Amino acid sequence: MPRATVVGSGPNGLAAAVTLARAGYAVTVLEAAETIGGGTRTSEVTLPGFRHDVCSAIHPAAITSPFFRAFGLDERIGWIVPDASYAQPLDGGRAAIAWRDIQRTATELGPDGRAWRALVRPLARRIDGVLDFTGNQLLRVPRDPLVTIRYGLRVLEAGSALGRRTFRAERAAALLSGVLAHANTALPSLAAAASGVLLAALAHTDSGWAYPVGGAQAIPDALADDLRAHGGLIETGRRVDDLASLDWGDPAAGDLLLLDTSPRLVLTHPDIPAGYARAIRSYQYGAAAAKVDFALDGPVPWTNPDVARSPTVHVGGTRAEVEESENAVARGRVSERPFVLTVQPSVLDPTRAPAGKAVLWAYMHVPHGSTLDPTEHITRQIERFAPGFRDRILASHAVPASGREALNPAEIGGDILGGAFTMAQAFRRPVVSTAPWRTPMKGVYLASASTPPGPGVNGMAGWHAARTALADAGEPARLSDLF
Ligand SMILES: Cc1cc2nc3c(=O)[nH]c(=O)nc-3n(C[C@H](O)[C@H](O)[C@H](O)COP(=O)(O)OP(=O)(O)OC[C@H]3O[C@@H](n4cnc5c(N)ncnc54)[C@H](O)[C@@H]3O)c2cc1C
Repeated sequence: MPRATVVGSGPNGLAAAVTLARAGYAVTVLEAAETIGGGTRTSEVTLPGFRHDVCSAIHPAAITSPFFRAFGLDERIGWIVPDASYAQPLDGGRAAIAWRDIQRTATELGPDGRAWRALVRPLARRIDGVLDFTGNQLLRVPRDPLVTIRYGLRVLEAGSALGRRTFRAERAAALLSGVLAHANTALPSLAAAASGVLLAALAHTDSGWAYPVGGAQAIPDALADDLRAHGGLIETGRRVDDLASLDWGDPAAGDLLLLDTSPRLVLTHPDIPAGYARAIRSYQYGAAAAKVDFALDGPVPWTNPDVARSPTVHVGGTRAEVEESENAVARGRVSERPFVLTVQPSVLDPTRAPAGKAVLWAYMHVPHGSTLDPTEHITRQIERFAPGFRDRILASHAVPASGREALNPAEIGGDILGGAFTMAQAFRRPVVSTAPWRTPMKGVYLASASTPPGPGVNGMAGWHAARTALADAGEPARLSDLF
């Protein structure tokens, strides 16, 4: 039986591992951390009984992913599908809410309701066509060209100065700026719009901005169960720093090595061609995230009651403020009023905290490698829209950008997106190729979010890497063949 060694147990590593185990390989996963899951771990980092998502918290990309659909993730774990996909509070107790119900959203956006519908409804209605484009290598013919063109036009609008004219009032502009800011890059920009417009469209689909009952950890746990059921092994506490000394088998005999890591690990391969090494070295990492998890003595006291019901809350005020914050980070500074992504899973999931208590997940963008402890910046911003928040804090646990690599060696300088989010790097991830998962070294494949389709918990990079390896071995496979 041929061997497959997968380095890293993030969602992409485990997606590759279950694919290869089902295809008949003897799979071993080597994970640096003591627990599996990478960006999908849940842990009691503050107080006993408070279950915090260490990295990802909200999973619209997982529930709609072609890989996870084939794997049957929706039947293997419990899901919470909020009515409010995300909220953005504004001063004076006002707020903009992206309800799953687009009509309700449009009505509340008043003069901009029609423009909001025009921006996202055609995409939400044919979301599978959009996902076919965004979930693959971009250098290919899309399956639904019409919706892909529509998506491209919306990205051009939202990612350029044209976007200034889309909305007349503040609420819709703020609501869009919150999703554009996920890309952690200058605003407006096409790269930010590419992910932001997709996130806005997903907000209005049947599954909305869903998240797993009990936390993100449910996702790797389901993958690991399936892997073990197909004979696979997982070894934790096994950091790999040097491919030259790793015994992963014999590529000439069909053994495989898949890397759910930073692409930089391939630089330690003894046979790496100089040109490929140069390309990998010039792949760029970008701005970073500084995160804090709070254990609270009750829910966040948001002034606006709809914000209190929404698991995801974008805290940053108006579009102008959000842009100022993101552009400051792009220039290497930190805004005094930063854009803060927060998730309050316990508003709909009572398993996350003891009765009457709550957990809050929050991060802000900071320059690459920043040592800033974000606790005070984030607390101040939340307090602005939820007076009394500070008094509810029982405990907090902060990880500055400079501390992220110790948690996950793939998060270089605290970059949580696997590489700078620029248009150039959308086509070059980490190299320009129609199959960037394949390396020039026989049997070695890249399988992480540093390959297409990029960041987000969707398992697609892992599936693409495993599929490419199987095709190279003369065993082409479709999802429906293996799952
Ligand atoms: C704070 C934060 C918030 C996020 N929020 C969301 C969100 O809400 N929704 C969403 O969809 N996405 C979110 N993301 C992004 C998402 O988590 C990642 O895009 C996704 O986890 C990438 O999956 P992956 O398998 O490629 O890599 P990872 O999940 O990063 O896993 C890589 C694994 O490989 C291991 N590893 C790396 N190098 C080595 C080595 N040399 N030797 C051995 N093991 C190694 C790491 O320890 C890790 O377990 C967030 C990420 C972070 C950090």
